[in-house]
Amino acid sequence: MSYLIPCPHCGQRDVGEFRFGGEKGSRPTNPDQLNASQWAHYTYDRKNVMGMQTEWWYHRGGCRQWFLATRSTITNIVEKTWLP
Ligand SMILES: [Zn+2]
Repeated sequence: MSYLIPCPHCGQRDVGEFRFGGEKGSRPTNPDQLNASQWAHYTYDRKNVMGMQTEWWYHRGGCRQWFLATRSTITNIVEKTWLP
């Protein structure tokens, strides 16, 4: 199944034109400084976030620009995109 992502420059395009850039925000700059409990929380809790997540995406098959998107981790549908 493929999805459409609304690029802020190009409009609705197939997800295959885009590259996922990772979750935006609060990632620690140096995970080595976390203790084991913090590391488990960081590693496992964040992977299973249910709901809306803000992510970086790159439109490699179009304008070749980075932008931000909110995507539902439940449905995979990108609801909103904007320029950083
Ligand atoms: Zn684009």
